[in-house]
Amino acid sequence: MQTHILGYPRIGSKRELKKACEQYWSGKTSLTELLKVGNTISQQNWKLQQEAGIDLIPCNDFSFYDQVLDMILTLGAIPERYLEIASQKAELDLYFAMARGYQKDGLDITAMEMTKWFDTNYHYIVPEFQKNQQFSLFSQKIINEFISAKQAGVNAKPVIIGPLTYLLLGKEKEEGFDKLDLIGNLLPVYIEILKDLQSHGAEWIQFDEPFLGLDLSKKAKETYQSVYKELRREFPDLKFIIATYFEGLKDNLSLATSLPADVLHIDLVRCPEQLDEILNIIPQTLSLSLGIVDGRNIWKNDFEKSLNFIEKAVNAIGSERVFIAPSCSLLHSPFDLDSEKNEEILSPDIKQWMAFAKQKVYEIVSLKKLASGNANYPALQQFAENKKAVDTRKTSPLIHNQQVKDRVDLTTDDDAQRNSPFSRRKEDQQKVLQLPLFPTTTIGSFPQTQEVRAWRSKFKKGELTAEQYDDLLKKETERTIRWQEKIGIDVLVHGEFERNDMVEYFGEQLDGFAFTQNGWVQSYGSRCVKPPVIYGDVHRPHPMTVYWSQYAQSLTDQWVKGMLTGPVTILQWSFVRDDQPRSVTCKQIALAIRDEVNDLEKAGIRIIQIDEPAIREGLPLRKAEWQEYLKWAVESFRISASGVEDTTQIHTHMCYSEFNDIIQNIADMDADVITIECSRSQMELLQAFADFKYPNEIGPGVYDIHSPRVPSKEEMLDLLKKAQAVIPAQQLWVNPDCGLKTRHWDETEKALIAMVEAAKEAAEAFDNERNLVS
Ligand code: GLN
Ligand code: ZN
Repeated sequence: MQTHILGYPRIGSKRELKKACEQYWSGKTSLTELLKVGNTISQQNWKLQQEAGIDLIPCNDFSFYDQVLDMILTLGAIPERYLEIASQKAELDLYFAMARGYQKDGLDITAMEMTKWFDTNYHYIVPEFQKNQQFSLFSQKIINEFISAKQAGVNAKPVIIGPLTYLLLGKEKEEGFDKLDLIGNLLPVYIEILKDLQSHGAEWIQFDEPFLGLDLSKKAKETYQSVYKELRREFPDLKFIIATYFEGLKDNLSLATSLPADVLHIDLVRCPEQLDEILNIIPQTLSLSLGIVDGRNIWKNDFEKSLNFIEKAVNAIGSERVFIAPSCSLLHSPFDLDSEKNEEILSPDIKQWMAFAKQKVYEIVSLKKLASGNANYPALQQFAENKKAVDTRKTSPLIHNQQVKDRVDLTTDDDAQRNSPFSRRKEDQQKVLQLPLFPTTTIGSFPQTQEVRAWRSKFKKGELTAEQYDDLLKKETERTIRWQEKIGIDVLVHGEFERNDMVEYFGEQLDGFAFTQNGWVQSYGSRCVKPPVIYGDVHRPHPMTVYWSQYAQSLTDQWVKGMLTGPVTILQWSFVRDDQPRSVTCKQIALAIRDEVNDLEKAGIRIIQIDEPAIREGLPLRKAEWQEYLKWAVESFRISASGVEDTTQIHTHMCYSEFNDIIQNIADMDADVITIECSRSQMELLQAFADFKYPNEIGPGVYDIHSPRVPSKEEMLDLLKKAQAVIPAQQLWVNPDCGLKTRHWDETEKALIAMVEAAKEAAEAFDNERNLVS
């Protein structure tokens, strides 16, 4: 039996890489310094795994920005716009230019596109392919890392994105070809890389092929066969691990087991039921790597359960053919639970149930010892501790709240249903709200200036009293209300100055959530997120936002919109429980948000927005599972929104979304108004709503808040005209693409003034036309 790790987090236990990169980008440190930090992190990671006793330690899992970008540069697939930089700059500067764009020395080159890595919150750089795309070995990173591991006494297993996954991750940048046809140009470079690695003494290669867990075309399946056959022919002696993760192999099972690899890695956390079937058909020549320690979550492994898996595999194929591993790369886990020292932040009662990357490495090693029957004292002790933790989690009153469970059980279809259909609600709402044609609003947050953030941090450190902090926020809120009144926005917001983050703010006030001090996970490049941990039944002990909404509403005669984060988004951006289905946790959150919505209504708030930007990213990787997810996701939203009177207007907001394939489900959410990101696509995203004849109201964003650029009134009018061409004017709202918290006030002021003018002009033009007709 052998242990291995698919990849280790690389941001550093104290986010050293983040800091070093950002200093380098701002010109404060040298390239040599940066390279040194990178090397130190790799060395530390190898040492840690070595000391723990891992048999096969990965290399090339380190990256200064992203592993896909590493591969792009390794393969020399550099888009043309960077060629000038390529000829002048150091390799790492070219690399960062591709990741982040380049605006210096009279050059203005856009960054490569970034998108989500499967269903994680990690973002990778998307390979760009031309019709006659060429590849040639460019960066030596993978070889260098192998050599440097060897010097550190580790005969490492280079991890490389498999050729099929590499192609499937990319995007064709011109018409008239299929990226899979590039395999003929691509494969020789892979062969060259493997030859190099072999000549330096590599024995193992891990090909990451997560696409084997996804829906594949017939052509992709055939290409898988031919590619690995050829690689095998070239390298009869190299040991190949083909790693799949994030999904079960399902209909690709026989394809995956027929590839000429030495080891197939499967994700048994995501899809435990695949083990039996694989053991039935696995060929004699293939070993199986059991991904049993969850690489995507922060819970302690259940040793008893894992040992059962191992035993089953050992009985079927013999221990020499069994490997033990985390389900996927540990990139998606925070670094080290031992650095959570502040018991007031993370209580020991909850901490005892958790494991971060380092702890997971030790779990793997202990599992091997326990499974091979030669467990030493520490392993046995760990087993006892593990069992205790797993057992207490099943019954702990910290986790289990019978009232919450009962309430979820008693929720009926009625609870997910507004009193009247939208057409009726629209009339009733209009009587109360009296909004003009093309009503204007914003998505919620106003600029979170340095100042606002400084108040919060001073308050947290005790340098400001609660009263002082409250006063400052009130002044900022009032200023924002007055300013919106002055420029003539129709539906105001309070500005969200009291919030650090749209999920954390709610999590901090709900029972069942815990927070960490250092539980950082890489999101993209140097950006990390620290997701809350949902450990128990979710319950709202007291109102969360009523205070601020009520205060803001008390300042003005205009409508102030209440602002909430929706249940799916809270779920999606947290570490979730693994002891109950996501759908149940989501419903619990939905009920908590429902109580908040109802309390806002009671406090006189007539318009309430429930943000769900993450609804689309929760979609399962396999299309066959979409409808089941959408059913409970949409139902959760509806539960949160349906406790109010017909006259109360419910808004929702989504960004980064393509809506075409889920438009029916968005309509099923039945929000009175939906605001969406639209400006970057020049209203193209609206087409899905038009084709569907989406019945409720829509606010397509008319300006891109992700850029400091101030759009002109004309531009926005133009976009509004485009919107009117496909959606009836009576259904349209006018708003930016998303919240304004990352913007500065001066840009925001100019842009919103122009936006209000554009809306007024559009309304006048519409009225004139109507008069002409009548
Ligand atoms: N209401 C939130 C804000 O304005 C919405 C943010 C989001 O959609 N990501 O900041
Ligand atoms: Zn948004």
